[in-house]
Amino acid sequence: MSTLLQPLDVTAIRKDFPLLSRVLHGKPVVYLDSAVSGQMPLPVIERMSKYERDEHTNVHRGVSTLSQEATDFFEAAREKVRKFIGAGSIKEIVWTRGTTEAINLVAQTFGRMTVKAGDEILLSAMEHHANIVPWQMLAEEKGATLKVIPMNNAGELILDSLDELITDRTKLLGLIHVSNVLGTVNPVKQIIARAHARGVPVLVDGAQAVPHLRVDVRDLDADFYVFSGHKLSGPTGIGVLYGRLELLEAMPPWHGGGSMIRNVTWEKTTYLGAPAKFEAGTPAIAAAIGLGAAIDYLTELGLDRIAAYEHDLLAHATERLERIPGLRILGTAKEKASVISFVVEGIHPHDMGSLLDGDGVVVRAGHHCAQPVMTRFNVPATTRASFAYFNTRDEVDVLVSSIIKAIELFK
Ligand code: PMP
Repeated sequence: MSTLLQPLDVTAIRKDFPLLSRVLHGKPVVYLDSAVSGQMPLPVIERMSKYERDEHTNVHRGVSTLSQEATDFFEAAREKVRKFIGAGSIKEIVWTRGTTEAINLVAQTFGRMTVKAGDEILLSAMEHHANIVPWQMLAEEKGATLKVIPMNNAGELILDSLDELITDRTKLLGLIHVSNVLGTVNPVKQIIARAHARGVPVLVDGAQAVPHLRVDVRDLDADFYVFSGHKLSGPTGIGVLYGRLELLEAMPPWHGGGSMIRNVTWEKTTYLGAPAKFEAGTPAIAAAIGLGAAIDYLTELGLDRIAAYEHDLLAHATERLERIPGLRILGTAKEKASVISFVVEGIHPHDMGSLLDGDGVVVRAGHHCAQPVMTRFNVPATTRASFAYFNTRDEVDVLVSSIIKAIELFK
């Protein structure tokens, strides 16, 4: 497929990211931390700035031209999200503050409505804390239990036991699409089909998937799909919950307040339908418009071209890192995207992160909000490099030399 695609013009793309020309500790910055937060290209920053300069007001408020205009931009961004993930209706696109809030919303509405004492919530062994803690809180409240789909040493889910793990008490399966630690791309479509065969709905955490793969929620047949704007070349403070309309309609509201009601009296309040029912109060308007602009930007580059380009970077980085004695890559699944976690014998990942930082190389060191993954691999932390469409092979080479330099220092 990739051979038919025009390659990305990365030299031109990099001009859209002013931060990439910064110098850190006397070295050109090498930003390999897009899994923590993606950088925003100028068209996104400028679109938000235009809104704040010339167009700012509130949305869904009255008849003023400005408010109608802002509402149009805001709702146009929702339509961009709908199209980007292949949802059937904009009613299925709920704005949230991010992936974390989207999962909490589902846990506190759908979860509270369906999970009873003795029920089970099934999660994968490689979930981010965002897709563990809200379910644990719910399980504690309801007297339910969490069950876990195990993974092998390559960081691939072991699906042989899936049919036994799903029982008549399973109320939801929560599944990360792309692991933020291991880079594993999970076979979500296949897993969803198997869960649906047993009548179990599936929530997919797509935070690390949407920036790197073409996602079609209807093709996947996901019941819920969640992600954050800031990992998708957009701003912080905005994220998305996609939910199948019949589920969203059956779910009770979450936060109460303005913008989510049909009618309020002292005796009773009636609510609007989805998505407004879940969007009480003034939303992050500039951020939503910015996310719409980010989607335009990525769509113009082409997700398939981005995926092919990043795949090449990942393959190059893997090949170079594997040659370094004492370095171990965590996550060697056949299907991987965008991130490489590693540990080096005798060097704490935090020390490695600091030494790389001294060379201008920005990576993440820590548990990556996935402590159960650290426990599974018996490491306290890892150093993680993550790639985006603006990175280059030369930058990967800087990472590699900087790691080698750090190892020399520790000898
Ligand atoms: N899930 C995954 C897979 C992530 O990588 C992250 C961010 N590290 C989150 C959830 C949480 O996203 P946010 O902090 O934007 O809510």
